[in-house]
Amino acid sequence: MQLDQTRISQIILDGYHAKLGERIVSDAIIVGAGPAGLLCGYLLAKRGVKVTLLEKRLTAGGGIWGGGMGMNEVVIQDEAVALLDDVGVRHRDRGDGLHSADSVELAAALTAAAVQAGCAVLNLMTVEDLSVRAGRVTGVVANRTMISGALHVDPIMFSAGAVLDGTGHEAICVQALRRRGLLAGTPAGAGVEGPMDPDAGEAFVVENAGSVYPGLYVAGMSVSAALGGPRMGPIFGGMLLSGRTIAEQIADDLSKQA
Ligand SMILES: Cc1cc2nc3c(=O)[nH]c(=O)nc-3n(C[C@H](O)[C@H](O)[C@H](O)COP(=O)(O)OP(=O)(O)OC[C@H]3O[C@@H](n4cnc5c(N)ncnc54)[C@H](O)[C@@H]3O)c2cc1C
Repeated sequence: MQLDQTRISQIILDGYHAKLGERIVSDAIIVGAGPAGLLCGYLLAKRGVKVTLLEKRLTAGGGIWGGGMGMNEVVIQDEAVALLDDVGVRHRDRGDGLHSADSVELAAALTAAAVQAGCAVLNLMTVEDLSVRAGRVTGVVANRTMISGALHVDPIMFSAGAVLDGTGHEAICVQALRRRGLLAGTPAGAGVEGPMDPDAGEAFVVENAGSVYPGLYVAGMSVSAALGGPRMGPIFGGMLLSGRTIAEQIADDLSKQA
């Protein structure tokens, strides 16, 4: 059989545009496919929420790929081990309440779990701004990464009842509100991290994962970027637990909106 090049392109175009069209309106949008965003996407999708994850890079996984200190091994504390089991990641007990796992396996397994649960991941999609109406975030403004910042092209608007800023240190959704003076109570200096303290830092990103503006939520490192808090050191459990906390909160808030 001779492969028909035109047919191959047509299949890709049909499939992609069906996915894109279907996701212009979602219950929840997650910006950034790091550990917090991916776990949140997985858990929301498992609960039947229509959730779409926009990631600017080719690959989902964010900082997971680099593991700790640029070495592809991650350390997770006891409290988060059940989350590894949930997505089928193998781990080793290292004593003192610590466990280790392969970061490549974690990134791949989390991504697969999210997509297979029904969270649509649109990669090469850079979120540039938020849509705000009547004092509420109603969606995000995005462009294909190849275009974003390079060409003068109108962006795509994705709407949702809840938007999670999972963009890590960049906290691009938080910054979009802050630069317009819309984040009351979080002055410009609020995002400055304190010195490293893994215990306090890990607790901070979990306890402070939440809503920072009507319709906008933070989890993972964007909590630190938005609110400050101590640096955590190379341990990943807090990112996953923060993703779980925010999934529960978003699901509850969406059910009240319905
Ligand atoms: C400066 C710095 C300091 C760090 N300090 C610590 C620390 O103290 N403790 C610690 O545990 N880890 C630290 N890390 C490591 C690492 O960032 C985190 O542990 C972890 O990966 C953060 O998870 P996350 O889910 O919050 O976001 P990330 O893993 O950072 O993932 C964010 C994702 O968002 C995507 N993204 C960003 N902007 C956009 C956009 N506009 N549109 C769409 N997608 C976007 C990125 O491509 C990425 O995939 C640090 C990293 C950096 C860069």
